Amino acid sequence: MKVETVIQDQLNKLLEVKTDDQFTVESVYYRGDTLCVSTQLGCPVRCSFCASGMKGLIRNLTADEIISQYEIAVADGFEIKNMAFAGIGEPLLNWENVKNAFWYFKEKGLKCSFYTTGFPAKNLKELLSLPHNGVNISFHSVYDEKRKQIIPRGEKLQNIIQTLKEHLSKLSKRKKKLYNIAYLLISGVNDSPQELEELAKISKELGIGVSLLKYNEIEGLPYKTTTDQEYEKAFLFLKEKGVRVTLSNRYRTRKIGGCGTLMVNRMND
Ligand code: SF4
Repeated sequence: MKVETVIQDQLNKLLEVKTDDQFTVESVYYRGDTLCVSTQLGCPVRCSFCASGMKGLIRNLTADEIISQYEIAVADGFEIKNMAFAGIGEPLLNWENVKNAFWYFKEKGLKCSFYTTGFPAKNLKELLSLPHNGVNISFHSVYDEKRKQIIPRGEKLQNIIQTLKEHLSKLSKRKKKLYNIAYLLISGVNDSPQELEELAKISKELGIGVSLLKYNEIEGLPYKTTTDQEYEKAFLFLKEKGVRVTLSNRYRTRKIGGCGTLMVNRMND
């Protein structure tokens, strides 16, 4: 693998990496110390808001290909302290390779965090037990039927909640801070007071926070960018209900390298 191009704005650097079989996959360098890596070429989950899953899955990345994204970034002079398994692909659906890459990064002394839809739950269970530095589990709706429209290939929420409950019941309040429900706020889809109320209830029952994500509008996909007012309203609503809620940081809402914007073969199409 090698870096083909680096596209950047003031905050993020999008690294396009070429595989030996001529696909281009993307990693993002942000905050001056973190690399977000892709785990699959495309994504079989095909979330309806995400550019990464638009073409479905081409193939899994090998552990070496996941590790290479880090190594070539380091060789190009990027200083990296944290790894985020949050690029293209669902880490739990390429689990053996992701685990091998994870242990490689840990041996290098890097901190590793994950974004996952929690599918399949048996791999989620294993992930929760790893010495990770953060796991964000994407809910995006608290109703299975709606969640299926947003995350078409996912785990039943009840299975995810049960898996989380079993794991979290053994942890201290401090340790629970490593876990968050990721909730992408989509205007008119999942932002009703009833749904947010239910989200607050689940988050408090589990004793973990909500990472409220702002939607990055993507050409060709059906949703509109969440307005600042809608976003703030949902944030205050959850906060008033006693939820530990965090907002999308400025790296996540960029057009370059923001959440859901990474693609396979961007330039070739
Ligand atoms: S959000 Fe994640 S799981 Fe969903 S399609 Fe995009 S890369 Fe795949």
